[in-house]
Amino acid sequence: MDSCLRSSDPPVPVLMAATLPIAGLSARFPVRRIYCVGRNYVEHIREMKEGDERDPPFFFQKPSDAIVEDGATIAYPADTDDFQFEIELVVALGAGGRNLSSGNALEAVFGYAVGIDLTRRDQQRHMRAKMLPWERGKSFDASAPCGAIHRVSEVGHPSRGGITLEVNSRERQRGDLDQMIWNVPEIIANLSASYRLAPGDLVMTGTPAGVGRLSPGDHVRGAVEGVGKIAITIGAREA
Ligand code: MN
Repeated sequence: MDSCLRSSDPPVPVLMAATLPIAGLSARFPVRRIYCVGRNYVEHIREMKEGDERDPPFFFQKPSDAIVEDGATIAYPADTDDFQFEIELVVALGAGGRNLSSGNALEAVFGYAVGIDLTRRDQQRHMRAKMLPWERGKSFDASAPCGAIHRVSEVGHPSRGGITLEVNSRERQRGDLDQMIWNVPEIIANLSASYRLAPGDLVMTGTPAGVGRLSPGDHVRGAVEGVGKIAITIGAREA
C-alpha cells in the first residue's frame, strides 16, 4: 500500500466537527446529530392545518454542519420565496443509548439552548404534497442557528416558561414550554426507540404558534425563559 499521496491526488479532506459554546466553560460542545420534532405545540398544528393533535411525535434531521452560532448573519437562502422562523427549545445530550424510558431520559441531558428551526416553507410544503423527503425544506445550509448551551447544573430541566421570538423588535411567537404535547423526557424516550442516541446529539423540540416569513435585513431575537437567548440577522439573498 502506498504510504503517501500521489502528486495527482487531491488532498485528503479534513473535517471539522461543528461545535457550540457552553455558557461558563471554555470547552465547546461537539454536535453529532440534530434531531427535530415535527410538531409539538397544539396551536402550531392548528395554524399549519395538519395532523391529528394526538399523533405520536415524528422526527427529521438537520446536518450537524447546519449549525450557526448566536450573533451570526445568515444569507437569505437560495431555492425559496418563503423563508420562515420557528423558535425552539434545544436539548443537548451528554449521554445516549437505545430504548430509554421517560423515567430515566433526563439523565442523558447535558444542557439546554435556544435554537431556530429555519425552514424553506414553500419547499417543505411542495415536498410534502409529493410525499417526498423534507430535506430541501428543512435540512439546508445554515438552517440550525443555536445559542450557547446552558448546563443542567445552571438551568435545571425547564418544563415551563415563556418561549418567544421577535423580528425587528416586534413579537411574532409566544408560547410556553408547558404547552408541549410531548415533553422532553417523552421526546427522548420516543426518539431512542428508533435511533441509538449518543453524546453530542441535539434535539429541537418543536415550535409554538406564530411562525412566519423572514426578509433580508431582518433582526431576529429568540428567548426561552430561564434558559437563554439567540440573535441572528438575515443577510442578502444567496446567488
Ligand atoms: Mn420546527
